[in-house]
Amino acid sequence: KLSQRLIRVANYVPQGARLADIGSDHAYLPAYLALQKQISFAIAGEVVKGPYENARHEILQEGLQDLVEARLADGLAAINLDDEIDTITICGMGGPLIANILEKGKDKLVNHPLLILQPNVGSKDVRLWLQTNQYELISEEILAEDGHIYEILVARFVPQRQELSADELTFGPYLLKDKNDAFITKWQKEREKLQKIIAQLQAAPKDYSVRIQELEQEMTKITEVIG
Ligand code: SAM
Repeated sequence: KLSQRLIRVANYVPQGARLADIGSDHAYLPAYLALQKQISFAIAGEVVKGPYENARHEILQEGLQDLVEARLADGLAAINLDDEIDTITICGMGGPLIANILEKGKDKLVNHPLLILQPNVGSKDVRLWLQTNQYELISEEILAEDGHIYEILVARFVPQRQELSADELTFGPYLLKDKNDAFITKWQKEREKLQKIIAQLQAAPKDYSVRIQELEQEMTKITEVIG
């Protein structure tokens, strides 16, 4: 019952990992990984009571209470350093929220866990956070499922900050090299959105010419990339 999106995320979790899945909702991802015997321990973190109860329910139903622990906490506060977490997944949220959770939880990243992040939108914010915090992208994926497009970013801590170009930050260094159908569709949709905003601004009584010019530049950039 795991979505293709989360199966792809699961593929990046190293064998035997000690995982924290933040914003776990039903804990489907850690439960799946535990049933596959791919992880040795997992925390399913949730900040909202309902999803936290969903996670507890799923863990009990699958008989995984020795392997997966649901915790009610905000972001990385679900992690204690003595849990020795080596892999963190944060999936199904906007990029700015994912970046914010990482930023607020920096004290829980001192052991430099592998980060597997799945932003629904705003992946640029995630790439910026990673770059600023000495995390290097080692893999990226983009996929379409049920009419939505998802990105998966995998990053590891490195001794030196890795600088991405402006295009790489926006489009993704690996995704830019591949440009699969999901990538093209995503950026066609983005371009259409920009076009609509420009039309609205042009129709507005106020003078938005500066903003319109910026948006037109963004559209040109997208066209440069996807044709
Ligand atoms: N990770 C699952 C997935 O990808 O299918 C669930 C995604 S669901 C759309 C997002 C979940 O993140 C919600 O259950 C929400 O309560 C939780 N969430 C949002 N902000 C959070 C935070 N700061 N800390 C922990 N969980 C959070």
